[in-house]
Amino acid sequence: MAVLEPQPVGIPVPNPSPASKPYWDGCARGELLYQRCDACATIALRPATICGNCLSRSLSWARSAGRGSLYSWTVVWRPQRPAFNVPYAPAIVTLDEGFRMMSAVVGCEPEDLAADLPLAVEFHPASDEIALPYFRPC
Ligand SMILES: [Zn+2]
Repeated sequence: MAVLEPQPVGIPVPNPSPASKPYWDGCARGELLYQRCDACATIALRPATICGNCLSRSLSWARSAGRGSLYSWTVVWRPQRPAFNVPYAPAIVTLDEGFRMMSAVVGCEPEDLAADLPLAVEFHPASDEIALPYFRPC
């Protein structure tokens, strides 16, 4: 059977911007961070410099406990680039803090994936500087 595993070092990696650097620095430390508006508490779905709800420029980083559940997924068997190992399972995960993020599930077989599967975050290096968040059934 095919077990879903983290991608190897050497895949294409994000190039952090000033807005997203705190997020990637958190991943490198093993911390899943997210942004919340200080004025209206809306959670930004990706690193931002302005709140998408109330236009406040006051956003703070918070640390997620890294627990959540599987919302949606697919299983990729044919890589779009040769650097990627297959199969892998891109997924949308609902975090307990109330936001959703794109990631990938590891540590189980594709047949084990199911809606609401409880998941916990873990981090794996993709380059010398970048660690990527993955989720494992828990
Ligand atoms: Zn706001």
